[in-house]
Amino acid sequence: MLKTFEGRPAATAGRGKDPVNEPMIRHWCEAMGDAHPAYTGPDAIAPPTMLQAWTMGGLSGHTDRSPAYEELFDLLDGAGCTSVVATDCEQEYLRPLRPGDVVTFDAVIESVSARKTTKLGTGHFVTTRMDVRADGEPAGTHRFRILKYAPAEKPAAQAAAQPTAEPAPETRTGTQPRPRRPRPVVNRDNQGFWDGVREHKLLIQRCTGCATLRFPWLPGCNTCGSPHWEAVEASGAGTVFSYVVMHHPPFPAFDPPYAVALVELAEGVRMVTNITGVPYDKVRIGLPVHLEFLRVDEELELPVFRGSEG
Ligand code: ZN
Repeated sequence: MLKTFEGRPAATAGRGKDPVNEPMIRHWCEAMGDAHPAYTGPDAIAPPTMLQAWTMGGLSGHTDRSPAYEELFDLLDGAGCTSVVATDCEQEYLRPLRPGDVVTFDAVIESVSARKTTKLGTGHFVTTRMDVRADGEPAGTHRFRILKYAPAEKPAAQAAAQPTAEPAPETRTGTQPRPRRPRPVVNRDNQGFWDGVREHKLLIQRCTGCATLRFPWLPGCNTCGSPHWEAVEASGAGTVFSYVVMHHPPFPAFDPPYAVALVELAEGVRMVTNITGVPYDKVRIGLPVHLEFLRVDEELELPVFRGSEG
């Protein structure tokens, strides 16, 4: 039944409220802290990641949401899936957008998943694909995925236990399995990183255009804009650049207090990670650390860093 919505329009003949323009580009670049020279001057292009911004309805909204989309939402609401959360988006760029371009778009409901159980509750992932045109030419696609779900009921005991700390793992009762750590979102842009983790390698991207190293993984170079890169293996040496100690709020699968660190690798890039081998209150800025891989559960392994002094 839900499958019959696939391929039906989610929005037709949409039109951006404003043509591509320099003030919106400037505000975006300021908000993002992106000073790339391609986005200023007489030959300026819009940052590619602004693709969706040109299609947004703003506070007053668009009035062109399709009957199919409304019908699908009504159906899911009726099935108890009354909550919604955006999960991820993917974009492809076909040609640069320049000031003056008039943006038009159409969107289709690309897929509706079978009912899935997530930590938030059970529901359906709905993927919408928007095809964006500039002056009538294909400019890019924007895929947007939401989870429309029935919120999981919080067990009364768990709700009552907050805000005190969660019981230590060994004192948990056997009735409820320990919640699993959140899964990383693996996509085309970071697949290589997680392939590396599986082989116990911490891989950093290096731009083949200008040799700048980057982490976390991104599709392009922030320095020169090149989409070409190679992966290099980090030595595993690093130091704690900064850290926080998490006490509250408690998250399922984590036992506070624990340290979340920003580790600066010997290669110069930084990553957010956990520190092992050192109590949370002995983590300090400048602490030398070394890469190791933490087996979290049967599916998940994570690169973490072991403190090499107490
Ligand atoms: Zn580069």
